Order: sequence, then C-alpha cells, then structure tokens
Amino acid sequence: MKYDYDLFVIGAGSGGVRASRIAASYGARVAVAEEYRVGGTCVIRGCVPKKLMVYASHFSEDFESAKGFGWTVGETSFDWTSFIAAKDREIDRLNGLYIQTLKNAGVEIIDGRATITGPNQVQVAGKTVSAKHVLIATGGWPDMPEIPGIDHAITSNEAFHLESLPDHVVVVGGGYIAVEFAGIFKGMGADVTLLYRGEQILRGFDDDLRNRLADEMRKKHIDVRTETNVTAIEKTATGVRLTLTDGSHLDAGAVMYATGRKPNTNGLGLAEAGVALDDNGAVMVDGYGKTNIDSIYAVGDVTDRVALTPVAIKEGHAFALTVFGGTPTSPEHDAIPTAVFSQPPIGTVGLTEAEAKEQFGDVAVYVSDFRPMKHTLGGAPERAFTKLVVDKVTDRVLGAHMIGADAGEIIQGIGIAVKAGLTKAQFDATVAVHPSSAEEFVLMRTPRA
Ligand code: FAD
Ligand code: NDP
Repeated sequence: MKYDYDLFVIGAGSGGVRASRIAASYGARVAVAEEYRVGGTCVIRGCVPKKLMVYASHFSEDFESAKGFGWTVGETSFDWTSFIAAKDREIDRLNGLYIQTLKNAGVEIIDGRATITGPNQVQVAGKTVSAKHVLIATGGWPDMPEIPGIDHAITSNEAFHLESLPDHVVVVGGGYIAVEFAGIFKGMGADVTLLYRGEQILRGFDDDLRNRLADEMRKKHIDVRTETNVTAIEKTATGVRLTLTDGSHLDAGAVMYATGRKPNTNGLGLAEAGVALDDNGAVMVDGYGKTNIDSIYAVGDVTDRVALTPVAIKEGHAFALTVFGGTPTSPEHDAIPTAVFSQPPIGTVGLTEAEAKEQFGDVAVYVSDFRPMKHTLGGAPERAFTKLVVDKVTDRVLGAHMIGADAGEIIQGIGIAVKAGLTKAQFDATVAVHPSSAEEFVLMRTPRA
C-alpha cells in the first residue's frame, strides 16, 4: 500500500523535531503537525525562557556581591516589561531556527492539531492523511487539582507572559518548576511564599539536597511552608485570597500552580485507534518507543518516563535510528544527570543515598560543606555542598550530588564518570581544578560517619 508519508509526527517539540529530522536524513518522507509553536515546551515555554528568567533574577544578588569587591553600584531597578520583550525576541529567533532546521531537512510542517483516526491515519488541518508510521510526541500539560477557584490560578505557561511582576506570588508545589520559579520571582523583587503539601520539597532528590535547598531559600527570605496546601481560591481586587489547609488565609498578587504535568493524550484519538495508555494517560511503549500498535510509536513526556528535554531528544533520535536507520536503538534511562535551576542550583546524577542503601546495602557517603570563595568578599550567606555515594563492595560511585553555584554545569562532567561506572579511587586519582567548587568532587577523603 502507498502511504502519503513514511512518517507522520504529532508535535514539534524536543522529541518530535529530532525524530523528524533524523528520519528525513535517511530519506523518509516526513510531515510534522504542530498545534502551537515549533520548538515545543522546552523552547517556547520551558527550559529556555525559564533559564533566561533565572539569569535575569540573579542580578539582584550579583549587585549586592559586587559591593564587597569594591564596586559602587548605583540605584538598580528591574523592568519586567523590557525583560519579557527581550525574552520573547529570543524565543521568536529560536522558533525561527527550529522551523528552518526542519525545512532544511526536507520535513513538511503542518500547522494545526492532529488526531489519530487509525493505525496509519491522521486527521489534520481538515484533511485525512496516511502514513506508514505515526509518532506521538505531544508532550505534557500542567496538571492542577480541582479545588474551588482554581481558574484564578496561573501555571508556568502564563508565568512567562504576565503583564507585570506581582508584588507577592504564592507558588504551590515542591518540584522542579515550583522551586525554580520561587527563586525567579524572588530575585526579580517579589515577595514569595512556597506552599508544599509534603514534609520536604523536591521529593525523590537526595535528602541532603532537599534540606539544604529549603534552608537556602529561607535564607533568601522565601517563605517556604511545608505540610501546607490550598483548599480554595477567591479573586480579590488586588489578586487572590487563598484558604489554606489550616483554615488561615493568604492574600497575594498571583498564585502559580506547579503541581506536576500530565501526558498530552486527551482527545488525540488514541483509545479509538486502540493504543494502550496507563492509568495516568501516558502512552505505553517498549524500549524502542513502540506502542501496542506496530505502526504507532511515542517519545518524550507523553510516555511519562523521565520528563527532560535531553531524554525526549535521545528517545526521538533512537526511534529514527530504529525505524529508518536500520539500527535498533533503545535509549538508556539510568544515570541521567539533571539540574534544578533553583537559587542556588542543584546538580545530581545517579542514586540518592536512600536509594543506594536500599539497592546496595552498605554504602560510603562523602560530603563537603563549604562557603564558595565568591561569597567570602561578596558577603552572601549562601553555602555549597557536594556529596558522593559509593558502593563499599566495588568502590563504584553510585551517585553524585551538588547544591551551589554552577552545579548544573559541573554535574554534566561528573555525569560522564558516574555513567561510565568509575570508582571512588578513580575520582581520587583525578587532579583537582583549583580554585573551584567542582574540585570538591575529587577531594573528599573521609566518609561521613
Ligand atoms: P514538548 O516539548 O512538550 O512538545 C510537544 C509538542 O506537541 C508541543 O509543541 C505541543 O504544542 C504539540 N502538540 C500537542 N498535541 C498536539 C496535537 N494533537 N497536534 C499537534 N501538535 C500537538 N527539561 C530540561 O531538560 N531542562 C529544563 O531546564 C527544563 N525546564 C522546564 C521548565 C518548564 C517550565 C517546563 C514546563 C518544562 C521544563 N523541562 C525542562 C521539561 C521539558 O520541557 C520537556 O521534558 C520536553 O519539552 C519534552 O519534550 P517532548 O518532545 O516530549 O514534548
Ligand atoms: P514535579 O512532578 O517535579 O513536581 C510536582 C509537585 O507538585 C510535587 O512537589 C508534588 O508533590 C506537588 N503536587 C502534586 N499534586 C499536588 C496537589 N494536588 N496539591 C499540591 N501539590 C501537589 O512537576 P513540575 O510541575 O515541577 O515539573 C514537571 C516536570 O518537568 C518535572 O518533573 C521535570 O521532569 C520537568 N522539569 C525539568 C526541569 C529541569 O530540568 N530543570 C525544570 C522544570 C520542569 P509530591 O512530591 O508530594 O507528589
């Protein structure tokens, strides 16, 4: 049978763009449908604008530190409107580059929402088209609890386009997005309250990092409240009034929910096409990204495995290699380095201490708790912390964790060593880079008792 396309990709985000481009490079006839903007979450309303916001917000501390180094810093002020305009110009530029890259690769871009109408059939822009393979790369969407007045809350999607910086922002949640945006809004000059329902923020991360980030955020005067949630939201003349679980009220200019993201599978026609979903609505796939229907694959956040851009890209690439490149490739999901762009940032790879103890029993833990050199003159009370978790039997480094300036940059290199399965002795045999914070990873000698 002759199909209109060899591959039809739904969603031009991190995974979909990479899969389209690589499949086309093997000669496949590829179309990709995008209902919003090419580039997807990461480029348009995720990693990229978020990181620009982190940079913007950090200047307030840098101006303070500069004084300790002999600079006279005049009066400073932050102009939200001009920053947002500059950020939007950069996002437009990147959006244009992604469109160009797809066009250069010979991929046809179709503007519009696509739905699956059969194993080899997609409906988009008022047409039905056929394809030998269909790739679902539709990402995720913010998920909010159904409480009274939830319509008055914003999510990260809206945070990138607020008309002005609220005087007081309440952030609900304790994951990546919540802690990153709490730091962003604070650095830009807003009062920030972070409400987290559990005992400690960043569940799933190493406990030392969780405790330290909460402490550092409080030192920066972010009001971090654990074991607290919101039961109702009312609109007021100046913003919102929240009712909290203890019955008290909290007034703020805005409330931002960062309570997780759900796979984007609603109304996609998957049930009708017979594609199996899990209880959370995620597309279920095998190690190669294949669903229970032979012609339909899925990559990225819609599969609800590890919701990070480089993972979606690796999965998209592996799919294209497998199906069009003649090289079956199953992306590995272990020892994935990741950064939380909180202030200070976190970098982490491999097992937490608790996970390592559970899986390996006896582990040695090395830690270093120090005041970064920049703050000695700069005066900020911020401290940094590094940690290695080592298997006592094999001496292999099972996990590496850091909180402190540049942790995200530093953990990329350490990630190679952990992924390669290097031992503590090999870390120790590596000469330090001095003076740096990164050197702590090769200088920790005495295990924590
Ligand atoms: P997406 O990039 O979400 O792309 C899916 C695309 O499909 C979207 O463009 C959507 O419009 C489109 N689409 C959906 N349904 C349809 C349809 N029916 N028809 C046509 N088009 C459709 N990850 C990191 O690694 N580092 C970070 O710093 C980071 N920061 C983040 C910050 C925020 C605020 C958020 C929300 C996420 C962040 N992430 C980060 C996560 C990262 O953005 C995602 O893991 C990544 O974008 C997933 O890629 P994807 O291809 O699966 O989906
Ligand atoms: P996360 O899953 O990381 O965190 C969700 C948070 O919301 C958790 O603290 C969770 O609590 C809490 N929560 C869930 N439901 C409720 C509820 N009903 N009421 C109150 N709190 C609730 O999701 P995010 O939205 O922060 O981010 C989504 C994903 O995007 C991340 O997991 C990550 O994979 C990716 N991302 C990556 C970034 C990076 O690489 N730097 C940055 C931003 C996002 P509990 O722990 O109790 O379940």
